[in-house]
Amino acid sequence: MEILIRGVSRHYFSEGRTIKALDAVDLVIPANRIFTLLGPSGCGKTTLLRSIVGLESPDAGEISIGGQVVYSKAAGINVPPEKRGLGMVFQTYAIWPHMNVFDNVAYPLQVRGMPREEIRDRVGKTLRFVQLEGYERRPATRLSGGQQQRVALARALVAEPKVILFDEPLSNLDAKLREETRKELKAFLGELKITGVYVTHDRVEALALSDSIAVMRAGRIVEIGTPQKIYFNADTEFVADFIGRANLVKARVRAQDAGRTVVESGIGVIACERREAAIGAEMTLCIRPEFIRVEKGEAAGENVVNGRVETRVFVGETWESEVRAGGELLMVRLDPDAAIEVGDAVNFRLDPAHCLLVAA
Ligand code: ADP
Ligand code: MG
Repeated sequence: MEILIRGVSRHYFSEGRTIKALDAVDLVIPANRIFTLLGPSGCGKTTLLRSIVGLESPDAGEISIGGQVVYSKAAGINVPPEKRGLGMVFQTYAIWPHMNVFDNVAYPLQVRGMPREEIRDRVGKTLRFVQLEGYERRPATRLSGGQQQRVALARALVAEPKVILFDEPLSNLDAKLREETRKELKAFLGELKITGVYVTHDRVEALALSDSIAVMRAGRIVEIGTPQKIYFNADTEFVADFIGRANLVKARVRAQDAGRTVVESGIGVIACERREAAIGAEMTLCIRPEFIRVEKGEAAGENVVNGRVETRVFVGETWESEVRAGGELLMVRLDPDAAIEVGDAVNFRLDPAHCLLVAA
């Protein structure tokens, strides 16, 4: 089901200040896809999610789900959460520790007064889906964090919602488990033909799980696109910086050639992927560390940058290093077995396709 959000605002008053948690948000969340709201802590993600679910009443605007208006300030419509047909998975597992797995998952059906037989069938089917068959009688407290999160997922899915919403469901898991659970979740979501709305501040999670990402900042949506578009082709510096490690260098447009925009920048004259911009316009050149291939020594040529290694830190799969080039300090990665050390003169050639110009 498609979700339509129009002009939704929500203000809070706190310590004598007004906080615009949501600032006239317009958004179309497409049906049967995984749509992620990504943004820094405090940007309004949870408030937006809770407004869709019906746990929060916006000050203005309208929300409809599958063509049905569930909230309208103007028309005085506010459908209660349990009548919106949604499933939700929260940050804290919110499963009941005193109940076993079966009872946790069965609960939403029991409160609806569904017949016992049907409950047993549905719970069985859902537990099979999340690969917890055989765990029915296991007390919730005797499950691992990942299993508890799967119970929470099963409970959200058991009533067969048309939309499932997630609020940072993996953030309480440790790094390794988070990675595993992310993969599982991706597989589960791929099999489900429902609309998924996923909230996170974790860019890797957003990139890995989503069909589409909306980046939020201070109560507003700043950019929407596929993970590839957001990562490789962001429109704004904020998004380019938020979605991954990025070297951001001030640049001024010098020429527009076929397929390229040439800029003068803190690291010299650089030919970039073409962006519509006037000659003389101030922009930001964004270069991701993974596209900088550092070689020892000095070199000359188009898009070749010379510099000197200032720092080098071993992080396992690579050396994270900083190279001083012109007035800029650039993050780069060095091969694990590279014989490049602090103080060495180095050079790299930038592929214009990986030189992204964004609005400053
Ligand atoms: P996120 O989920 O992106 O971290 P939230 O939607 O939780 O952000 O919060 C958005 C803003 O609204 C934050 O500045 C937060 O402090 C504020 N806020 C959220 N809920 C309340 C509340 N009940 N009372 C006062 N301020 C709130
Ligand atoms: Mg939140």
